[in-house]
Amino acid sequence: MPAPVIGVLALQGDVPEHLRALEEAQARAVPVRRPEELHQLDGLVIPGGESTTLWRLSVAFDMLEPLRKLILSGLPAFGSCAGMIMLADRLADGVAGQQTFGGIDMTVRRNAFGRQVDSFESDITLSGLGAEATGPLRAVFIRAPWVEQNGENVVVLGTEERTGRIVAVRQGSLLATAFHPELTPDRRIHELFVDIVKDNT
Ligand code: GLN
Repeated sequence: MPAPVIGVLALQGDVPEHLRALEEAQARAVPVRRPEELHQLDGLVIPGGESTTLWRLSVAFDMLEPLRKLILSGLPAFGSCAGMIMLADRLADGVAGQQTFGGIDMTVRRNAFGRQVDSFESDITLSGLGAEATGPLRAVFIRAPWVEQNGENVVVLGTEERTGRIVAVRQGSLLATAFHPELTPDRRIHELFVDIVKDNT
């Protein structure tokens, strides 16, 4: 099977890190910022960054509605941190009028871990990575959200140990992490997403 083509939404955020991580996970990674670039994709990554900026730029670049439709119609997507926020059907602590692409039946709280722990690292034990991929994953949290409420079709893949909060979820072909797997060398999350994309094509 040829390598799947996975777009990284390149409006703002840590785009190069995701492009590199996807290539290391044996996908063909392409930055996308215009609606006409979306039809070529087998999957989409929404990077970490700032969700209010991603929202505003998506509107300015006419990407909000096309991406909503594509995700709703089954395009596999993976969002990290701000990307997790963009995949949430509901937001807590969003700014006035803040919109998301949606897709995952969950409420995500922005900046949930609070000021005192703006950024931290934590070992996360994840499920759903396949039997061969055992062992905790070092997770980097930067002004990270958490999942405050999730619907019954949302599978919890991991929680943060200190708080017990949900920080990794999957709903069908949609995957989201509150942390940034693109910033660490462990490729298991990107490999999982590439597998999800392959299964879908
Ligand atoms: N706090 C940011 C937001 O609301 C997310 C931070 C991140 O992606 N590292 O979008």
